[in-house]
Amino acid sequence: MREESRVAVVGGGPAGLMAATVLSEAGLAVDIFDAKGSAGRKFLVAGRGGLNLTHSEHAEPFAGRYGNNAETFKKLLAGFSPDDLRAWLRGLGVETFVGTSGRVFPKEATAAGILKIWLDGLGRRGVEFHYRHRWQGFSEKGAPLFLTEDGELLEFPARAVLLALGGASWPQTGSDGSWTPLLAARGVRLEPFRPANCGVEVAWSEHFRTRFSGRPLKNILLRCSDRQATGDVIITAHGLEGGPVYALSGVIRDRLEKERPVAVLLDLKRDLPQERIRERLEHRRDKESLANFLRKTLHLTGPAYSLLREICPPEDLKNPATLAGHLKNLSLPVINTRPLAEAISSAGGVTFSEVNADLMLQKLPGVFVAGEMLDWEAPTGGYLLQGAFTTGYQAARGMLKWLGHPTRRQ
Ligand SMILES: Cc1cc2nc3c(=O)[nH]c(=O)nc-3n(C[C@H](O)[C@H](O)[C@H](O)COP(=O)(O)OP(=O)(O)OC[C@H]3O[C@@H](n4cnc5c(N)ncnc54)[C@H](O)[C@@H]3O)c2cc1C
Repeated sequence: MREESRVAVVGGGPAGLMAATVLSEAGLAVDIFDAKGSAGRKFLVAGRGGLNLTHSEHAEPFAGRYGNNAETFKKLLAGFSPDDLRAWLRGLGVETFVGTSGRVFPKEATAAGILKIWLDGLGRRGVEFHYRHRWQGFSEKGAPLFLTEDGELLEFPARAVLLALGGASWPQTGSDGSWTPLLAARGVRLEPFRPANCGVEVAWSEHFRTRFSGRPLKNILLRCSDRQATGDVIITAHGLEGGPVYALSGVIRDRLEKERPVAVLLDLKRDLPQERIRERLEHRRDKESLANFLRKTLHLTGPAYSLLREICPPEDLKNPATLAGHLKNLSLPVINTRPLAEAISSAGGVTFSEVNADLMLQKLPGVFVAGEMLDWEAPTGGYLLQGAFTTGYQAARGMLKWLGHPTRRQ
């Protein structure tokens, strides 16, 4: 088959593979290019901590998880929804279930198992894989250029190109954001990459850092600006990690751009109102150590008590009213977010103003973009993979439309 009759998908993550699925199912000859030696490396990493594929909540709140891009995602998700994703997975032989938190996971299959079935299916439909091919931009004729393993520059004259190059966290998986100058040089507006769903840094004392790194703070509430999140948090050598921290990391990151440190408030006793805590604290006898008393009366753990000692002036701990205040509103000075490379996802990339409703770049007709390389962010909970799958699906449908190919819903 002549190359001109083929379409190129660049990036073999969930977005690119979903796009290749739609395109090959429509009968197009598809070539996938990836800079790495294999596909879906970040998808495999996501599988390590329990592969959270999507979420079961209703369309409206689901789209709301994409923050400033909620309206855009409302439309995109209408074309490929969480239910569509689960139905598609069922078609692959992958059953899913809804966990207690509403998150959707595979019943039995692992990320590696899903990837294998998926890649095998693409192979059977004639999709060709070109690994260790790093996208280098476009030739004068508009064809994508790739640097091969042998150091050769390959020009691949394709009918249309779909870029799904990922964000810029976990660069070891291939999504290193090194493509940004290539699109910027074509006048495409990009927002700089920033960490999303990441840990935060607190300047612990040496004593606290060495004694409490790795210890949990259980069932606490975190607040910053108008956001709050509950759950378990882990103390690390650098600060804090864990679900509630990731949930607030976007708002903390944005505030850190204007002020430093940012106060994050911790409620260490969610189950009791401040007044009840104060009453209990007033019954303390002088000879009893505060640590013991708090453990017995309020079930306060060692790490939580030591955190109070780390943050509060000593005289505040002696006074029931001020101590009760700190237990409910401990003000933690956050000095930074953890680096982009460590974050679960990234904000930034190609802005939605650069693409049309079919995710085609306005400045580069015939070039479509999908996945985390677009400037959106969402919390953990399955919204990231759903965002990648949905934009991959919709960009591929956009390409079919642009090529004048029938776009019967698949
Ligand atoms: C630790 C961790 C856990 C996660 N857990 C979950 C989870 O449970 N649920 C969830 O929803 N999300 C999770 N995610 C996020 C999810 O994995 C990503 O959002 C998703 O992989 C993004 O898909 P993508 O296709 O846009 O990009 P990627 O998966 O990053 O794929 C991009 C591909 O493009 C290739 N590429 C990049 N540049 C070039 C170039 N110049 N030339 C050629 N190829 C290139 C890369 O090699 C890569 O294969 C997790 C992420 C991490 C890091």
